[in-house]
Amino acid sequence: MPIARNSNAIATVSLRGTLEEKLAAAAAAGFAGVEIFENDLIGSALTPREVKSMMDDLGLACMLYQPFRDFEGMPDHLRQRAFDRAERKFDLMAELNTDRILFCSNCQPAALGDRARIVDDFRELGDRAAQRGIIVGYEALAWGRHINDHRDAWAIVEAVDHPAIGIILDSFHSLSRGIPSDSIRAIPGNKIAFVQLADAPVLDMDLLYWSRHFRNLPGQGGLEVEAYVAEILRTGYDGPLSLEIFNDRFRSNAARMVAEDGHRSLDYVRDAALRLLGRPSTMPPPQPALGAEFVEFAAEAHDSARLGSSFATLGFDLCGEHRHKRVTRWRQGGINLVVNAENKGFASAYRAAHGPSICAIGIRVRDRNAVLARAAALGIKAYNPEGRPGRMAMPALRGVGGSLVYLIDENEVEGLWAREFTPIEPSDPMPAPHAHGVDHLAAVVHNDEFLSWQLYWRSLFGLEARAAQDVIDPSGLVHSQALQSADGAFRVTLNATDARETLSARFLEQGLGGGFQHVALTTDDIFATAQALHDGGAAMLEIPGNYYDDLAARFGFDDAMLARMASLGILYDEDANGDGFWQCYSRAFDKLFFFEFVQRDGGYAGYGAPNAGVRLTAQNRFREVVVTD
Ligand code: MG
Ligand code: MG
Repeated sequence: MPIARNSNAIATVSLRGTLEEKLAAAAAAGFAGVEIFENDLIGSALTPREVKSMMDDLGLACMLYQPFRDFEGMPDHLRQRAFDRAERKFDLMAELNTDRILFCSNCQPAALGDRARIVDDFRELGDRAAQRGIIVGYEALAWGRHINDHRDAWAIVEAVDHPAIGIILDSFHSLSRGIPSDSIRAIPGNKIAFVQLADAPVLDMDLLYWSRHFRNLPGQGGLEVEAYVAEILRTGYDGPLSLEIFNDRFRSNAARMVAEDGHRSLDYVRDAALRLLGRPSTMPPPQPALGAEFVEFAAEAHDSARLGSSFATLGFDLCGEHRHKRVTRWRQGGINLVVNAENKGFASAYRAAHGPSICAIGIRVRDRNAVLARAAALGIKAYNPEGRPGRMAMPALRGVGGSLVYLIDENEVEGLWAREFTPIEPSDPMPAPHAHGVDHLAAVVHNDEFLSWQLYWRSLFGLEARAAQDVIDPSGLVHSQALQSADGAFRVTLNATDARETLSARFLEQGLGGGFQHVALTTDDIFATAQALHDGGAAMLEIPGNYYDDLAARFGFDDAMLARMASLGILYDEDANGDGFWQCYSRAFDKLFFFEFVQRDGGYAGYGAPNAGVRLTAQNRFREVVVTD
């Protein structure tokens, strides 16, 4: 059976459900084929022939049967049994109509490490496989008893020198052990029988446990899967790239979502690998996000007025009214907030589902059409309102929680505001701006979607994953992942939790799903900003005195400084180079979303993670306060 060149495949173990559900999800996501994981078949009520017929109906190829364990180097009294087992699986493969099987390196204590014996075993296996038209791929498990490195597996396959015996490369097994990817250059592409890919967070953990529970999709972890794939493509290998993901979360997530993300991750990693090689790719390159041009809030008319008052105390000026819609523009420095009080259209529908909320963000890009083309290639849906095909003032993509990501060409920004909005002169003389730009946008997402949204930002805009943090909310643990453009001009943080009473979880519950929860604004003078906010009557978050006692101990601030920070609710963190980070927070609007003001000194690249627990505890104190109109 010919295998589609450069195709995408997925191992059934990566997906939740029965074998039928796994196959249906893989087909729906557009995979050309699957690896049938033995346990999925054994547990299935379908006969192998029924599985084959279902795959035929779905248009899926069975590209690999796996795994066959503990074959090579068995002592004499167990050797024949291993070959008998292999013959039985070859029979099964004929029923499934697959020509490829994965033999992983032996983990048995009884296995012999004798290379000559292992080579003999594979040579005989090769003769038997060849009679059936089968290719056997040998995979070095990272925890194999004698063979646990793809360089050793290749040395054996090379010595076996049999057309029916090749090597299988699995990025997790290689990269988890830190094996240099350029070692793949020693392998001719036609000896690579199959390629399995997985990423993983970088953890210091037992390899087997790490592999079985924490693998994730390329673009979701910290392994250099892109460079690994580049080395594989460099060999001339043009077979499928296949996902083999053991992940506790994926075992319970909707199979459809994991399959769709999986397909996207393979397209992403292939594109990234081709770029590393300087070869043409069918996908437009990632366009950097140049910054957040605006944040749009959905609010009903009376909420809109309250929001406006709140924005005014936070230093924003009403500076424009939409020419045709109930939409206002508030500005501070280079920051634009848009309040959409229309009673039809996207914002209205979003508000109906989520309450007053951030329903969209606008991102400046160099070439929005290139972003749209890349999004389409990645299967990221564009927002196309009914009845207005092609007439959108700004194209938009679906984002977190069903919110929108508008795309604005940087050279059209000023024209766009002028065209859509009637300017309003501020009634008071415009005060000096307190803040001048958006530092980051913080989203809260369901834990099930936490990795999904990381892949979205990384694959679409080429954002880089930065500090991952576990933040302690008084009611439970929150996972936080920061992503940013290479120059830091655009940053998002994703926060997720399973703990039901955390601020993040309550945000999800009240807002009926994920979304942006806070907007952090940049200032060059946090003290002047905080003082102005205080003087203007902004509702700011109070920080307990104990925090400042601790700060005195950690950083040696003098009493006057600490007193000033305490009176203004300013938090502080410092990196290893002594570069500081200053923050203060507004109280949450209807306990839903809030603002942060930050000052970054020097090269401070984090988000004040050591302060997050204090901030969350302070916010928690206000959770029972009911804001009435
Ligand atoms: Mg594998
Ligand atoms: Mg923040």
